[in-house]
Order: sequence, then C-alpha cells, then structure tokens
Amino acid sequence: MIKKNKAVFLDRDGVINKEVNYLHKIKDFEFTENCIEALKMLQSNGYLLFIITNQAGIGRGYYTEVDFHTLTNWMLLKLKKHGINITDIQFCPHHAKEGKGVYKIDCECRKPKAGMITHLIERYNIDVQNSILIGDKLSDIEAGKVANIKNLILVQSGHELPSIIPSSVNEVHENLASFAASL
Ligand SMILES: [Mg+2]
Ligand SMILES: [Zn+2]
Repeated sequence: MIKKNKAVFLDRDGVINKEVNYLHKIKDFEFTENCIEALKMLQSNGYLLFIITNQAGIGRGYYTEVDFHTLTNWMLLKLKKHGINITDIQFCPHHAKEGKGVYKIDCECRKPKAGMITHLIERYNIDVQNSILIGDKLSDIEAGKVANIKNLILVQSGHELPSIIPSSVNEVHENLASFAASL
C-alpha cells in the first residue's frame, strides 16, 4: 500500500500574514511573528504545506485574480529563499451574494465548505488522521472538520476569536509560531 502524506492546511490572512481587510498589495503584506521559522519547522517535521484561502475580494471586484497571483508569486519566492516549499495553494474567488458576474455562485470551495481541502486531500493522497488545519476563524475550523482533518487549530493572530470556542477546536494558540513550537 502506498504511504499517505501528512499535511498542514494553512489559512493565509491572519495566519501566514497579518490580517488586513481585502489584502492584495505586496506593500501591505507582512508575515505574522516568526512565521518563516514556524513554516520551516512544520516542513522539517515532514508535513506538506498547503494554503487554502477565501478571496471573495476578487468576486466583489475589489481586486483581480491577477493581483492575487502577483502577491502569491511574490510570497512564494520569499518563502523559497528561506527553503520553504508550499506544495499547493487553493483560493476561492466566489461570493454567493456579493459576487459580480461569474463570481456570484454558491460554490463548493468557499470556507466553511470543504471543497478546497478535499481537492488537495485527493490530489496529494493526504492522511487526514495525521494532518493539521490552522485558521483564525471558525469557518476555517468548520471546513477542516467537514474534510475530517484530525487536528484543528485556531490562532489569535487574525480576527478576534468568539468568546465561546466550539469543542471541534483542538487547541488555541497565539499564532502559527507558538503552535509550531508546541509540536
Ligand atoms: Mg483568515
Ligand atoms: Zn468558491
């Protein structure tokens, strides 16, 4: 039997970079504290790294897919210089109500739906039992739960967390770095 891969599914805004509303410019992008070291640590522990991000700003017309890819390529190059390889990135540009034109669909990819994650699980033969999802919103956690990811981690580095944390959350950490340090 082929051995399955373990992975970390990372939300982007509020986890990898500091939360900025509808971030799409390189000049506004700032990594969260010790994010690079954290990603290195996760990678050296044998996890594939994936980014799964809702980007409804595209659908709303605030920025374009080209803007998203420009920022993404810049970020990936930055990470590569530190020896970090992001295996794949999935983004959802849709919004069921506010999307314009082709982007106005009730898609299967926008978190809390699990479409982006389940696609990666199949494509990269991921062992969900030994994988981790890290997000700053309950919608991230919900998507991970639907996709049967075993370890669901909330971080405080993005949006303010609700006062009641559901039991589906395994751990709450200050940020990605403090989670990585706890492994
Ligand atoms: Mg986020
Ligand atoms: Zn979508």
